[in-house]
Amino acid sequence: GVAAEARGLTKVYGSGAAQVHALAGIDLTIESGRFTAIMGPSGSGKSTLMHCLAGLDQATSGEVVVGDQRLAAMSDNELTAFRRHHVGFVFQSFNLLPMLTAKQNILLPLDLAGVDPDWTWFDELIGVLGLADRLGHRPTQLSGGQQQRVAVARALMSRPRIVFADEPTGNLDSRTSAEVLEFLRRSVRELGQTVVMVTHEPSAAAYADHVVLVADGRVAGRLDSPTQDDVL
Ligand code: ADP
Ligand code: ADP
Repeated sequence: GVAAEARGLTKVYGSGAAQVHALAGIDLTIESGRFTAIMGPSGSGKSTLMHCLAGLDQATSGEVVVGDQRLAAMSDNELTAFRRHHVGFVFQSFNLLPMLTAKQNILLPLDLAGVDPDWTWFDELIGVLGLADRLGHRPTQLSGGQQQRVAVARALMSRPRIVFADEPTGNLDSRTSAEVLEFLRRSVRELGQTVVMVTHEPSAAAYADHVVLVADGRVAGRLDSPTQDDVL
């Protein structure tokens, strides 16, 4: 994994009287090979922050550095290539293709990029995620937790430097949430992955090594090695 850093990050939507300061000066270090949760109330700027860190959205001012790369210095094509090769995404809604098997879903991004899979890595991931006997199943034949584990495997298959998970347990019950969070934590512990998760659920944030609290577009606090009580 790699570290990511935001320095003096601002994001203004709209203009004139309709201006919204979604980010009002964020300074933040996401540590390499660690699990960081970004928490905060609805509308506090979590998604905007994540999109700026992931190179999906451009900040109004300030800097994002992922590893040794300044995102602001990249062209649109370079940013797209950066996301495709170095960033993994996990979504609340899984975003699996229904007509493909678990295995085909996991391999799809590499297929599209014309990259040969590293089968040793594939086997390791499948083992860590407990998906070995589910590879031939289609999404509808899998539980919610299994579908999200497939989505996690898909995100990790290209060995991204950093993985962004946007409310990954938002559609899961508490038991399957725990399952997915445990696997995200294992991918950090056992594979050295850097994972950034946006969540509003204290029970989810308690799995992270670090919790960054965002309020009104600013970093309002930071907790290291949090327990659920700390987060609440
Ligand atoms: P969160 O993820 O914490 O709910 P967001 O980052 O989605 O917060 O939103 C932060 C603020 O920016 C909110 O006031 C939201 O309404 C505003 N906002 C987000 N996206 C847009 C957009 N595309 N256009 C205008 N305002 C936006
Ligand atoms: P392209 O299709 O040109 O590669 P995109 O910007 O469409 O570039 O997507 C690049 C990556 O970002 C893909 O993995 C896609 O799933 C992800 N992505 C696109 N839009 C969003 C979004 N709003 N939130 C999170 N991830 C996104």
